[in-house]
Formats: sequence, structure tokens, C-alpha cells
Amino acid sequence: MSKAVSRAAWVMIGLAFIASGLHMFEFAGVSTDAIYLTATVQVFVFSVLGVWVNKPDRRVWSALLLLIVVLIFAQIFDQRDANTVFAQATSEFLFFAVQLVLVTGLFITVQRRFGKDPVNVVFDSLIIGLGSWFLIWVTFLNPAREISPDVVSVTALRGATLASSAIVIFLLATLLFGETERTPAVWLASSAIAFSLIGDLFYATNQSGRLEISNEIANAPYIASLFLVSATVLHPSVATLASHSIRRIRQPLLGRLILTTTALVVPVVVLALTNPTNETDRVVRAVSIFVLAAAVTSRVIFAVRSNAALQTRLIDSAQTDALTNLPNRGLMLEHVAASIENSRFGGYSPTVLFIDVDRFKNINDSLGHSAGDDVLVSVAQRLRVALPERCIVGRISGDEFVVLDAKSKNQSDAVLLADMVLESFHEPLALRQGDVFVSASIGVAVFEPEITTSADDLLRHADTAMYRAKDAGRNCVAIFDKSMLERVNQRLAVETALYRALERRELRLVHQPIIDIDLGDVIGFEALMRWDMEDGTNVSPAEFIPIAEETGIIVPIGAWALLEALTHLRGWINQGICRRDATMSVNVSPRQLHDPNFVAVVNEALMRSRMPADQLWLEVTEGVMITQPEQALDTLRRLSEVGVRVAIDDFGTGYSSLSFLQRFPIHRLKIDRTFINELASDNNARSLVKTIIAMANSLGLDVVAEGVETVEQLHALGDLHCSKAQGYLISHPVSPETMASTVAGLDKIGKWPRLRPLK
Ligand code: C2E
Ligand code: MG
Ligand code: MG
Repeated sequence: MSKAVSRAAWVMIGLAFIASGLHMFEFAGVSTDAIYLTATVQVFVFSVLGVWVNKPDRRVWSALLLLIVVLIFAQIFDQRDANTVFAQATSEFLFFAVQLVLVTGLFITVQRRFGKDPVNVVFDSLIIGLGSWFLIWVTFLNPAREISPDVVSVTALRGATLASSAIVIFLLATLLFGETERTPAVWLASSAIAFSLIGDLFYATNQSGRLEISNEIANAPYIASLFLVSATVLHPSVATLASHSIRRIRQPLLGRLILTTTALVVPVVVLALTNPTNETDRVVRAVSIFVLAAAVTSRVIFAVRSNAALQTRLIDSAQTDALTNLPNRGLMLEHVAASIENSRFGGYSPTVLFIDVDRFKNINDSLGHSAGDDVLVSVAQRLRVALPERCIVGRISGDEFVVLDAKSKNQSDAVLLADMVLESFHEPLALRQGDVFVSASIGVAVFEPEITTSADDLLRHADTAMYRAKDAGRNCVAIFDKSMLERVNQRLAVETALYRALERRELRLVHQPIIDIDLGDVIGFEALMRWDMEDGTNVSPAEFIPIAEETGIIVPIGAWALLEALTHLRGWINQGICRRDATMSVNVSPRQLHDPNFVAVVNEALMRSRMPADQLWLEVTEGVMITQPEQALDTLRRLSEVGVRVAIDDFGTGYSSLSFLQRFPIHRLKIDRTFINELASDNNARSLVKTIIAMANSLGLDVVAEGVETVEQLHALGDLHCSKAQGYLISHPVSPETMASTVAGLDKIGKWPRLRPLK
């Protein structure tokens, strides 16, 4: 059905030419009235059919219907050549009404298709209309008035009709030049209007008395126009006539500009070349040109204003963070720079607070990113409310906020501000998902000309201080001082040196024996890394292991340690230094477990050292079970399938939930030395250790006590039936070369309980 209707649209175009041709040349004696009647009837019938099948926008079809009705009325009551003024005026009014409906309908269509710029469209059409009006006055209306000085009302209506034709022309141009695609319906509608305008022109020519055009010819364009209206409504693309869904990439602003400029220039040229013929002409010309100039001025003002507004919007959006509407990094830097500049005269010390939301990644991971966004928005709000107005709050990335106080006088002002921020987080944030508590780590940097040279510096110093606050356990404030800069530089130096440590053979392993207290035997060793830098300094693993982990260097270093440790154990067994079933414990960091090659690395180390898998223990901390547990779980499962065993290191200091203990393939708990430390003196520590041992036993896990330093501690462990221990009491970590004498010394001691001090 719709296909047939769309074909009918093209047939209509043919009919438009045939019918208007027949009308023009009065072929085969066909009555012109009959053709006119046919055209009028068909436009009504096909419009209804087209609207029913293609279902265009309600506004399009109501405007169309109104247009057709007014048009039919105008044709029926066409009294433009009548003798009475009233009949003439009524007739002119009806034609004017046709134009008005057309202008309104077109304007709505154009505005909807054009979208953003209706004010400019109005002004441009006004300029074109006024320009055209001027020409119409000079060429048609004034001469016509002189030939048969009509009554003013008729002249005015005629003029308005003709002037609005000019607006129709412009709107038509905008429709064609607008930013949306020119569909067949747009072309057909434009042609229909264009033909009707040609008809108007013929009539105007007739009335000006310059040229006599026969009625047959003057009406022919109207007939073509009526058929083209049917074609428009029948074409399926009429459905999108008033929508701006299909966009064109290139906007034809040039065509619009040319049209507007022409409408401006031509009247001026005509004004310069011709003289007014009478007083009315002079007044009309003067007023028309004045209004035209006013329209052009307004148009220019609007354009300049909207450009300025657009520019402001663009700058704003480039300098503010879309989520929180706070200034972004670039703008904050500008503010900081300005405040430093001003401080030279004002006696202030601009202060920057660098605020990082603690454990924001956890919030994002556990509650989802939209909750994360909500947290950031609420934090931004909190900061703005909590801080005095003079402070500027910005968000410079992810969960990092910056506060600038340009007017602070000294450090205590700055600390006061930081406290306000910490305090503002005491109440939970009310999110859609429920209440969430957050805390923040804050770094404070106060501008000091000696150490801060730029805004960037001040921000970086606050950032450095913030990291110090994080290291100090989060939810606190750290104030920047020079020594931090040294630390940062030192850390940078360590990082760089660590990259080369492996190939420069600066890393080595030491081993700490693990004994069975009851048997008095060395049953295994723990490998611990040592780094002797080329300048002779020894960096403690507590310092370099976290850096290695952060930078990812732990992956190659850890692989080296595994092979090295197992090779040492193989050597000692072969040399008879230790039992054949002695084990090697190697510390493994989370980063290594997330490395997809880790299982292969372990297998290769076992193969190359010719050690059975069940003589290797991997020591992991509880943290492994918290961040990305799935991947770690998968790695550990695959390793435990081949016989490698897993120990939880520093047990009791992390956050592991007991359910993790069940899910993970774990075979040993190593009780952290902080508990062992207080074992002999503190009853609470004692019952805690007792509980851990009982739990391990019931889960079928092995237990090792770490950091045993005194005989009393060893005793207490014996009482609690914990048989495996390591610590300085037994042996410090020693180099592989001295392991033979260390183990021999331990073997000599024999059973440890015999050391029980005599009462
Ligand atoms: P950890 O695995 O818990 O190692 C035990 C730490 O306690 C060692 O410190 C050891 O020297 C020390 N220690 C042993 N007995 C006693 C004692 O009786 N009293 C006291 N106060 N301390 C004792 P170290 O060697 O400085 O290592 C620190 C941490 O660095 C290790 O803790 C481990 O987490 C990490 N680490 C060491 N080597 C490696 C490695 O090769 N790879 C990885 N990923 N981490 C390592
Ligand atoms: Mg360990
Ligand atoms: Mg430990």
C-alpha cells in the first residue's frame, strides 16, 4: 500500500506539469475551470489519503489542512478584480491568510528541523522580508497605486501578501539550507511553494500594470503547485518533514549569508539609483530602509551575543568537571597561579589541600561505578558546604579533590581547614544505595617562595604530603615539608635502581630456619630477599618490596627468588646439610598471583631445581584474598593441584574473613609475630593464639609461629601445642653459605623443650 502511494507521488509530479500545461495553452478545448476544479478536488482527496498512509507529524497535517481550506476559500471568493473595495479587500485578505498559514507552517517546520537557532532564523527572515518588501514596493505596489490609486487597505494587504512571499522564500531557503537532510518531501514541498510564489508574481505584475499576463498563464503555476502538494503528502518521507532526526554534517551557512546580504544590498542599490516618485513613496522608502537597518543591527547584536555566550560555555565546559561542576585541574592551576601572584603584594600564603578519598577503589568495585559517581558528587557538596566561601574547591582527577585558600596567613590556618574537611566526613554520605562512610587523606602545602616556584609545584607538594597521610594510616592530615621532597627523590632513586638490581646481581636471598619444637629438627626454611645497592647501602625489604610491587618489578624479581631459593634447598639436601624432606617457603606478593605466567614460572623453577612440588610453600598475605580474589584463587588452585602448598603469612593482621579461609586452598597459618611478642606477658594475646591454633587444627591446617625471640615465648607455644616456629631465638636469617653451620648448631641443641628454664 505505502509503496503504491509513494509511486503515486511521482505520478503527481507528471500530472502537475500536464495539468498546468493544459491550463496554460487551453489544449483540446478543456475548460480551464474544470482543470482548476480537478486540481482543487484532488489535492483534498490525496492529502487525506497521504496523511492516512504516511502519518506525518500532527502539526504538519493540521497546517496543511488549514492551508488547503483557506486556499479553496481564496479561490472560490477570488474577487481581486471586483469593483467594490470590500470585495477586493476580502479577497486580498484571504490570499494574505494563505500566506500567513504558509509562513506559520513553514516556520514551525523550519524551526523543528533547524533546531537550535530560531532567533537568528526570525531575524534573517525579517531582513529578507524587508528587503523584498522594499523591492516589491518599488517595482509593483507603488506603480500599481499610481495607475489605479486603490484604497489604502487593499494596497496594504496586497503589499503584506507580497512581502510575506519574501519571508516564504527565505524560510524555504532555510528549509533547504538547514542542518537536516533534504528528503524528497522537502524538495516537493519547496517546489509546491515556489510555484505558488510564481503565481503571486504573475498576479503582482498584472496589478502593477506593467505587463498584461493572461489568466490562463497566471493560474497555471497555482495548478502545478496543488498537484505538488499532493505529491509531497503522498511521499513517505513526509513523515520526517518536521523532525530534525537526520542531520547533515556540513551546514550551508554560506547560502544563508549570501541571501541575507543580497536582501540588504539590492534595496540600497535601488535606493541610490532611483528617485522617489511621490511623497508617499519617499516616506515608505525611508521607513522601510530604517526598519531594515534596525533589523540588521539587532541581528548583528544577537549573533555577537550568542557567539560570546557560546564561547563562555565552551570555556566553562573545558575548565569544569562535568560530574561535580567543580573547576578541573587546568582551572585550579590557574587559580593557584593567580593566588601566588597576588600573595606577593597581599602578605598571604596561599594554601593548597590535596584530598584523596580513602579506599575509593573499593567503593567503586563493590558498589558499582554509579555509586562511585554519587560518592564523588556528595563529597564535592560536603567540601563546598564545610569550607569557608573564600576557598575554591576543585576536582582534579578520579577521587582527588583540591582546595585552594588564597587568603590563609599561616600554617595553622591551613591545618584548621584540613580539620574542617576531616570533620565533614564524620556523618555518612546518603546515597541512593544507602548510607556510606568515607574518609579522606589530606596533604597540605603552604606557599613558601623558597621551595615553591610555581602553581604546579604547590599542587605537587600537597600531593606528596597526601601520600604521607595515606602511609600514616589514612583518614588524617600531613603537612608538606622539605624532607618529604627528599624522600620522594630518594624513592625515585630507589625505583630506578631497583630496575637494574637484578641484572647487576645486587639481590640475594637469606634464609631463616623453621624448626619443629618437639622433634628439635630443622624442617624447612623461609627465603627472604636482601638488596645490597652498589654504594653499599642495604635497603630493607619492607621498603623495596612495596615499591617493587607497585612498579611491577616484583614479577621478574619474584621469579628469580623462586628458582634461587629452590636451587639452594636442592644444594643443601644434596650436601646432606638438611633433611631430605625439608621445605622452602617463598614469599609471594599479590601482583605475582595476578600474573598469568605465574603457574608456569613456579613449575619451571620446580623442574629446574629438581624439587618435588610438595617441598615448596608459597607465603601469601591475607590481602590477596581481598583485592581481585578470583584471579588469585584460580592461580592458587592450579598450583595446589600440582602439590604446591600455600601458607597465610602474618595471619591475624589483615582483614580476611573466615569464609575466605574455606574457599582458598590453604594449608598453613603463620601466626604474626605481634601476637607471639606478647604471648608470654599478655593473657589476651595468649587466648588469641590459642583460638587461632584451635581453628587451624579444626580446619586441618598446619601452624607456624613467627618471630619467636624468647624462651618464654617458645614455652608458651609448647603449652598451646604449637610445634613449629621460627624467629631470632632459633636463628636469624642467614646466607646460604653459612646454612651448613647454622643447621649443625641447631641440630646440636636437639629437642627445644629441654631448654625449659629451671625454676
Ligand atoms: P615476612 O614474610 O613475614 O618475613 C618475616 C620477617 O620477619 C623477616 O623480615 C624476618 O627477618 C623477620 N623476622 C624473623 N624472625 C624475627 C624475630 O624473631 N623478630 C623480629 N622482629 N623479626 C623477625 P624481612 O626479611 O625484613 O622481610 C620483611 C617482609 O618483606 C617479609 O615479611 C615479606 O613479607 C617481605 N619479603 C621478604 N622477602 C620477600 C620476597 O622474596 N618476596 C616477597 N614478595 N616479599 C618478601
Ligand atoms: Mg613470610
Ligand atoms: Mg610474616
